[in-house]
Amino acid sequence: MRILIKNIKQLISPVNEDYAIFSDFKRLNVYHNVSILVNNGVIDEIVNEPAPELDVDGVINAKNQVVMPAFVDPHTHLVFAGTREDEFNMRIQGKTYMEIAKKGGGINSTVKETRQAGEEELFFTAKKNMQKMIEHGVATFEIKSGYGLNTETELKQLRVIERLKQSFPVDIKATFLGAHEVPPEYRNNKEKYIDIVINEMLPAVKEQGIAEYCDIFCEEGVFNIEESRRILNKAKEMGFQLRLHADELTPLGGAELAAEVGAKSADHLVYISDSGIDAMVSKNVVFIMLPGTSFFLMSEKYAPAKKIAEKGGIIALSTDFNPGSSYTHSMQMIITLACLKMGLTIEQAINAATINAAYSLDLHHKTGSIHKGKQADLIFLNIPSYKFLVYNYGVNHITTVLKKGIVIFQK
Ligand SMILES: [Zn+2]
Repeated sequence: MRILIKNIKQLISPVNEDYAIFSDFKRLNVYHNVSILVNNGVIDEIVNEPAPELDVDGVINAKNQVVMPAFVDPHTHLVFAGTREDEFNMRIQGKTYMEIAKKGGGINSTVKETRQAGEEELFFTAKKNMQKMIEHGVATFEIKSGYGLNTETELKQLRVIERLKQSFPVDIKATFLGAHEVPPEYRNNKEKYIDIVINEMLPAVKEQGIAEYCDIFCEEGVFNIEESRRILNKAKEMGFQLRLHADELTPLGGAELAAEVGAKSADHLVYISDSGIDAMVSKNVVFIMLPGTSFFLMSEKYAPAKKIAEKGGIIALSTDFNPGSSYTHSMQMIITLACLKMGLTIEQAINAATINAAYSLDLHHKTGSIHKGKQADLIFLNIPSYKFLVYNYGVNHITTVLKKGIVIFQK
């Protein structure tokens, strides 16, 4: 099955097939007036227009739009019940975290609702959110559990992720995040909860084979370095790959731990230390940055992206989509924030939202750039040039999303 995608005004792609650092991070391949030949869902060739007479089975007209690799979102909490718009409204009026928690807000409210929700209800809501993210240009996802904080509900969330994998023609990687928080019933006995995570949850998740990664919220007042190390090493022993929520609120040393345990990524990193940066760079751990979270929490503190880029770190971007600290479906908004708040260039932000994000999920051989042999995971944008993706901000420019050469969304 050969398909020709024709009338592409501007085609852009990361230069690299695996990940982009240093000067390559600042570059993109830019082609003008080209077609793409797709063979069985895989990119075959970029052809200058007018394209020669080709024997193809179908033609997709890009109508003089910009075409680029579909976004990869490597950090989402997509499966949950309930939303927290009232808490948001309190927060923008200056109420403190403690005041909000007293009124029943915070992560525990999502945990409570997710525990109570049936699997069908969770699946229905997750489907709606995933569809909206696809409409905003994402065709590859990472999704975490972490709103169950008991074995039954963590497994329920992971089953929903499994059903999403079967329901949508996109790539999805699942992450077990049982150590997202200490649940209220174990607030005074964290040791017992860690025991449950290690000896009950991890084996159950392993047995069912429904998560590729294990993640943890390594933070002061949640899981400290020693506790995180214990859980992560156990997960690694059982064959999970590792990710971390690290150094989001304090410079605890989560980045150094990520390098030590050989994690695939450490995420947030707002307060990362210089030694943490060096440690992660030396071990090729991906720096996943979530500027939407700082923005949504009204913080002026962002991860030090420019410094990390100068040291050769692999930087990726993500929405952190969740009902508490970052309720956005839009990677386009995140790219804009990465430029305006963290000082990335447009080209760096695009590399971070495509190839580097794909690398953090071990999917760079399939997606994240336009190279021969990769899946034709593409988005069409109704803008005059790729720079309008950031310049014309707060707007959804996506008109078409292709996964493996098949149209999965069209406006
Ligand atoms: Zn998160």
